[in-house]
Amino acid sequence: MAARIIDIAIDRDAAVTEACRVLGQGFPVAIPTETVYGLAADATNPAAVTRIYETKGRPRFNPLICHMSDLGMAERYAMFDPISRLLAEAFWPGPLTLVLPLKSDCGIHALTTAGLDSVGIRVPKGFSADLIAAFGKPLAAPSANTSGKISPTSARHVADDLGEKLELILDGGSAAVGVESTILRVEGERIRLLRPGGLAVEDIERLTGRTVERQDGPAPAIEAPGMMASHYAPGAAVRLNASSAEPGEALIRFHGLPISGSTDATAIFDLSPEGDLAEAAANLFDYLKRADATGATCIAIAPIPDHGLGEAINDRLFRAAAPREG
Ligand code: AMP
Ligand code: MG
Repeated sequence: MAARIIDIAIDRDAAVTEACRVLGQGFPVAIPTETVYGLAADATNPAAVTRIYETKGRPRFNPLICHMSDLGMAERYAMFDPISRLLAEAFWPGPLTLVLPLKSDCGIHALTTAGLDSVGIRVPKGFSADLIAAFGKPLAAPSANTSGKISPTSARHVADDLGEKLELILDGGSAAVGVESTILRVEGERIRLLRPGGLAVEDIERLTGRTVERQDGPAPAIEAPGMMASHYAPGAAVRLNASSAEPGEALIRFHGLPISGSTDATAIFDLSPEGDLAEAAANLFDYLKRADATGATCIAIAPIPDHGLGEAINDRLFRAAAPREG
């Protein structure tokens, strides 16, 4: 049976009531957040969390991010060091996940944290925070897509991928940020970047006056399985740093920069004709899906600047282009 879709702009109260009912029964609900659409379930209920993994076809060893209504709720589940608190106060609600020591016996199930003694926490902006406040418990929520595929930035994306497996999808329009959260872990005086995302590293460094340490090479598996090489994969092959388009390729470019061979491309998309990296991030997954839907065998992608949100964009593109497993 196809999922019921409720538009939160039309019936916000019904969206909250219905979502709380389904979540309370231990089933996942697809919800809009400002990063990407999440597949949310009660983080304290092992049956509910198991259903997230089943629906996504996701390997079980991945820890899930727990979404909280506000900092006060987060403090009931995790311990904050001074730098993490500073970051939370500055950037929550928003596209920042902090990996923090888990409070023992706080109720978050070990399936959510993959048995770790830490927990990834985020306070999302807007509707989803209100929903969590109404539900009263944290929601574990990875992106609402089949594992390894492109993340959804609209209710339509979710319905096309998981509509037959879900009971309820909440439609909050296009995700404003469009890429997943930036994940940080503070260790003493060090701030480690576990995943670049919707909050620019430059903003974190400006606030804290510290240099954010990037991963050297692939992250240790347990710490960041969301960082496995092939991820966000479209059906078509992906070719990065393209300076020209080959016949039959779909082309994704940036800032209106001309690419030779464009006239032979099956379709041309510009992530941001004005050269705005935040706009490019918001369009990224939708344009990858649309380029894929043209039936092109390959998607050629022009170089994207690597500063600001460009770091997250390039991280996702690198994974979209990585050799596929299986
Ligand atoms: P997502 O696929 O967006 O749900 O992101 C989940 C990612 O958050 C994981 O792959 C980890 O990189 C990170 N994460 C979540 N919880 C933890 C944790 N307890 N310890 C370390 N990393 C975590
Ligand atoms: Mg994901």
